[in-house]
Amino acid sequence: MDLLTELGITSVLASMTLFFWMRRYYSKEINRLKGEIKLFKNANEYQEDAIIVFSGGCEVYSANRSARKLLQLEPFHINMIPEKKILLKIGHSDPLALLDVIEKEGKIIKRSIHLEKVVMTVGEIVHQVNIYIDHSKWNLKNSVICIFQDAASDFKEIEEQKMLGGIDFLTSLPSQFKANSDINRMVIHAQKDSKKLALFIFGINDFEKMKVAHGLAYSNNLLKKFSEFLLELVEDNTFIYRLDCDTFLYLVNNIKDEDTALNKGKEISKKISRFFKHNSKDTYLTSSMGIVLFPDHGRNASKLIDHALKALAESKEKEDGTVQIFKKEQIHIQATEEIMIEEMKRGLKSGEFEVYYQPIIDLKTLDITGAEALIRWNHPRLGLITPAKFMHLAEASGSIMGIGEFVLEQVISQHKQWNELNFKDVEISINISARELLAYQLGEKLEQLFIDNKVDPKFFNLDMSENDAIEDSIKTDLEFSILKKIGVNLSIDHFGVGGSSIENLQRLPIHTLKIDRSLLKNINTDVNHQETVKAIVVLGHALNIGVIAEGIESKEQYSMLQKLGCDHAQGYIFYKPSPVCEFQELIRQN
Ligand code: C2E
Ligand code: MG
Repeated sequence: MDLLTELGITSVLASMTLFFWMRRYYSKEINRLKGEIKLFKNANEYQEDAIIVFSGGCEVYSANRSARKLLQLEPFHINMIPEKKILLKIGHSDPLALLDVIEKEGKIIKRSIHLEKVVMTVGEIVHQVNIYIDHSKWNLKNSVICIFQDAASDFKEIEEQKMLGGIDFLTSLPSQFKANSDINRMVIHAQKDSKKLALFIFGINDFEKMKVAHGLAYSNNLLKKFSEFLLELVEDNTFIYRLDCDTFLYLVNNIKDEDTALNKGKEISKKISRFFKHNSKDTYLTSSMGIVLFPDHGRNASKLIDHALKALAESKEKEDGTVQIFKKEQIHIQATEEIMIEEMKRGLKSGEFEVYYQPIIDLKTLDITGAEALIRWNHPRLGLITPAKFMHLAEASGSIMGIGEFVLEQVISQHKQWNELNFKDVEISINISARELLAYQLGEKLEQLFIDNKVDPKFFNLDMSENDAIEDSIKTDLEFSILKKIGVNLSIDHFGVGGSSIENLQRLPIHTLKIDRSLLKNINTDVNHQETVKAIVVLGHALNIGVIAEGIESKEQYSMLQKLGCDHAQGYIFYKPSPVCEFQELIRQN
């Protein structure tokens, strides 16, 4: 063997030894690293801070236990973009989507950011967190690591310093502001520990009446004593707040279930009754109570309080001392109502509303002298919807303003067209609610419309229900006098079943009374109703006010009304409400 061959063999052997030695070394090292990563992963998994790693494309690479709870992630969400919308509200800025921030971080900015005291909403749940976002320096392409720390306690301090409202001035109990922040904080912990919270909101029945009867000093004193008594009910993990005037909140952090909450509510309610029995003068006050549980009936303070107030309102309608748990179905009803309100706004914008007209006739001649404008909603899926299905929501949500303006504009411009085309002059009644009358400058709006359309205000009647017309007499009187000045007429709708007095009829500038349908239904058989209608007709005529009977469905009814001297009528026996093209055929003169 020559020297060269010997050297070759030696170097091959040396390389092989080195190779095997290195393989053993690296596999040992890899196993050590694997162990360390596992250890790190375990430590990370149980960290209190929520740690999550996103790809630049916003898929979740990894999320520890706290992060999964905080961001409501399931194991299958790994390698996916989170489904729940995560919004961050930083200071006074508009809410930002966390994923937008991540995307920017991962792809563009590539630096770390630190956001303090961020209000973060995941789905419906609100959290208060500090957030650290760091572009990864590891070999993972474009990954972003986010760390969320619970900042509720920082918020609490700030909130308390910020507002004196943290403590109720009269009773020294924590106020509704404090209740809000405490509930939101407790919700985070209850969510983490899979526990339930219970809110018991109770109100003193007839507190306002008592205040009027015994005066402010007495009722304030009673509230103070009541608050001291409530503090005696506080146990471990329970808190008491004054929400407003006579409404209090008893909050229990950690309750087993609905039955336990109901029993607790009954127990508190009994103690409250005993308190009032011994402490309220003359009148024996009672309380009502609404109960909600987290997470069953809401996932944040405002939803929980709102739902408890709904349950409270329901319990107030029942017997004294009733304890009412919020019904889950209410959530669906509320959700449906919210959808309906949104739909209404959309429908109004996209021209789905239409004004129908129901003729009003002269009972002597049976001629059409006017019509009532009645709103209809042509829903693209649900078809024609009558006001009974949406007006209460329109009132409650404020959409009534939009609907009201639409009706006014439609009717007045329609009248202008009839005028120009020489149709018969008719008086049009437009329904108006108290909210519409008081909320915007109805007088100014009408005056402008009359001027723009060059129509005479005397052809328009505003129909208001009896109780609406006398609701806030100072404001309504003022608006009524403005309307009278403009020259528009006023009618009292549903007259005879509300709380009107002769004094109101003399005081308000009323042009017509519309007798409520319920008084006319049995007018041929019910002598009392006959007498009432007769009295309304006489009263109206004595005060120079016209009388219309509405909802007339039979010949007998209108013969009786003719006999009783009623001036006008409206009802299915004559005409049903119809779209403008049909109605105008009835008033066409050429
Ligand atoms: P309302 O002012 O009492 O209007 C009369 C209602 O009685 C109308 O119901 C009409 O269709 C109905 N009606 C008329 N004749 C008869 C009859 O012979 N038999 C029966 N069973 N019903 C009859 P509609 O159109 O469903 O309106 C219901 C209510 O909705 C109105 O009661 C009014 O309070 C409100 N409303 C309608 N349009 C408007 C509007 O544009 N603005 C406001 N604020 N409220 C409106
Ligand atoms: Mg009406």
